[in-house]
Amino acid sequence: MPRESKKSKVARVTEFCHRMDELYGNEPSALDWRTPFQLVIAVLLSAQTTDVAVNAVTPELFRRWGTPEAMAEANVADVAEVIRRLGFFRTKSEHCVACGQMIVSDFGGEVPRTMDELCRLPGVGRKTANIVLNKAFGIVEGIAVDTHVFRIAQRMGLTTAATPLAAEQDLLALIPRELWDGVNSEWIRFGRATCTARIAHCDACPCEDLCPKRPVRHGAGKAKKPTRRRKE
Ligand code: SF4
Repeated sequence: MPRESKKSKVARVTEFCHRMDELYGNEPSALDWRTPFQLVIAVLLSAQTTDVAVNAVTPELFRRWGTPEAMAEANVADVAEVIRRLGFFRTKSEHCVACGQMIVSDFGGEVPRTMDELCRLPGVGRKTANIVLNKAFGIVEGIAVDTHVFRIAQRMGLTTAATPLAAEQDLLALIPRELWDGVNSEWIRFGRATCTARIAHCDACPCEDLCPKRPVRHGAGKAKKPTRRRKE
């Protein structure tokens, strides 16, 4: 098979992004948060667990330690007790308290607004930093590549990278910058509903015509075909 040109990939992924935006662009954030600090904590907690599970523990967590100052003073064991239903709760509780302490000591109590500074916070990597910059501050510096985005990019033939971090660079080179901000939240929803980890429901996929992986893994067609709609 001839290698696909970059121009062709750009056209495919651009159309894919537009369709994702039509499908999921109006849906609110799945995580509950009110301040940039609470978003940092909520995203940090969401690793290896569901947004629903995170939203179940954050009301109590934020009631007791909803600011960097309060979290900096928290006892790690107390935080762990509140979030113990989440995977890796011990490590996450340590990161929560250490994040609060660093934000207070190094950033004057304000969540920093640059990628480099955010990535200094304990437990915060490029994926989390991208989400915080985008959702809390409207700053788009990259694309948060989680397991769903990574899988879809691979199936769509947009990357051959071995890690999400490396895949982000491939996506940044292909997706027009003005579309970066929707990729994480919209592709995650698509990855949960249709292009799932267990099986790709290609028969129900609204982007089947854009995807070279279509013949590889045929879904059982159990996923409901999403209805595309125009944004207001
Ligand atoms: S055609 Fe199949 S593999 Fe491709 S994006 Fe759609 S569900 Fe995923």
